[in-house]
Amino acid sequence: MSPHGVSRRRALGASATAVLLSLAIAGCGRRPSCRGQNLLVVVIDTLRADHLGCYGYGRDTSPRLDALAKESILYERCESQATWTLASTATILTGLYPFTHGLVKPSCGPLTPDAVTLAERLHDAGYATYAYSANNVVTYASGFNQGFDRFETGKCPDAGRANEAFLPWIDEAAVAGKPFFLYVHYFDPHHPYDDPAGHFAKFGGQPGVGIDSPDVPMKLFKGEPSGLAKTDVDALVAHYDGEIRFVDDKLGELIDRFRARGLLDNTLVVVTADHGEQFLEHGWVRHGNTVFEEETHVPLIVRIPGEAATRVASRVECADVTPTVLDLLDVRHDDELDGVSLRRIGRRAHPDDLSFSETQHRFEVKDGETHQYEQLAIRRGKWKLLVLREQLQLFDLEADPGEQHDLVWEERDVVQALRNELNVWKSSTTRRSLRPAPWDPKQGEILLQRIKANGYLPDVKPSPKESVPFLPPSAVDEPWWPQDHDEQKPRR
Ligand SMILES: [Zn+2]
Repeated sequence: MSPHGVSRRRALGASATAVLLSLAIAGCGRRPSCRGQNLLVVVIDTLRADHLGCYGYGRDTSPRLDALAKESILYERCESQATWTLASTATILTGLYPFTHGLVKPSCGPLTPDAVTLAERLHDAGYATYAYSANNVVTYASGFNQGFDRFETGKCPDAGRANEAFLPWIDEAAVAGKPFFLYVHYFDPHHPYDDPAGHFAKFGGQPGVGIDSPDVPMKLFKGEPSGLAKTDVDALVAHYDGEIRFVDDKLGELIDRFRARGLLDNTLVVVTADHGEQFLEHGWVRHGNTVFEEETHVPLIVRIPGEAATRVASRVECADVTPTVLDLLDVRHDDELDGVSLRRIGRRAHPDDLSFSETQHRFEVKDGETHQYEQLAIRRGKWKLLVLREQLQLFDLEADPGEQHDLVWEERDVVQALRNELNVWKSSTTRRSLRPAPWDPKQGEILLQRIKANGYLPDVKPSPKESVPFLPPSAVDEPWWPQDHDEQKPRR
């Protein structure tokens, strides 16, 4: 067993260990304990950070979240570990990387009972645990009810109807005589961008124009042009922003309910997202098929009662949510997590400045069959390396945050170091991978149809090698790195 709060990410940044320990010791006892406080974790599906006012967006999409951020710690560079809902949400709620918790593809099966969730840990610590998921794939069938006394899933209701369903729980929890954990998963602003309040008009949107682009993903999977003109993309963004404004209003109602019940000064509040969204920045729409920043850079806002507001510039991960709240709530655990407690990092630079992202949803449709690939990313300091089969891309995120200028041939030493580090990460996480639980056949089929309906999977028969029900993460020794890469010409 490892010491309390130790992370597996530490092992990947051994040179920083001494620094970390000194920070941890310095931090202990100086920060206020939130022991016994309530916990509210809100995941806003598909919310990219750079479309929020508190992250510098020019449109007024998020007045309520901006106000919350002024009372909170805002992490400016939080990266999601996967760019589709189930893998990323499982990471948020376990503190484990996708390759570790094992839920990396829909075909893998539900989250295994062997993965200890945040809800289970808090339940064992005496918390009442509630969850409302407006995303119809974050369900009992996919294993997300683990540890919750009460877990309800809507059929992708908008955030207003979601609030109607679960806000009364807060009134019950307020008088129950024990601390509680409420997990809320809003579905907005996931496509279709159907903002019922019409906020899109504030951002130049027209009714019924730009709510979705349902035929575009299949064109892209086939390697065809999207067919979207700039005006079409602008319309999509207007409706996406309108949905953000809508869910922001509803988040405000949720915070107001906590305040009205006198709970806000006794509740740790975390707001984040499972992934972002694409608008052709790199040739794709929606999400799930790349690990570019528009898909991975998500908000992370942590309101700690009694703690002064601040902004933290160093890079952190969604995997850090669970270890951070456990640390803040003083709930001990002896098992190792992949994430780190951000409490122990405080306002100083993250000693590792290291983050990873992955997706297994890079599809190509050829000759009527679907082929599925993984894309991986590692960021250290200003550098980000992306790996898709034999294709490598390197970006300087400080000079080129839009990831437009590939430096893979100019910075070979950096590429070599990062690819080695990424290889170690994949090897170490796949070695520990928990085997997903078997699907309930009926529930598994229902979930698969929902995943297709949500746009994650082409509705085309998989190639024979993809049709097996359980595809474990690649074996450690699988030659996923082409030996002759350095002799190849880059793909532009
Ligand atoms: Zn999602």
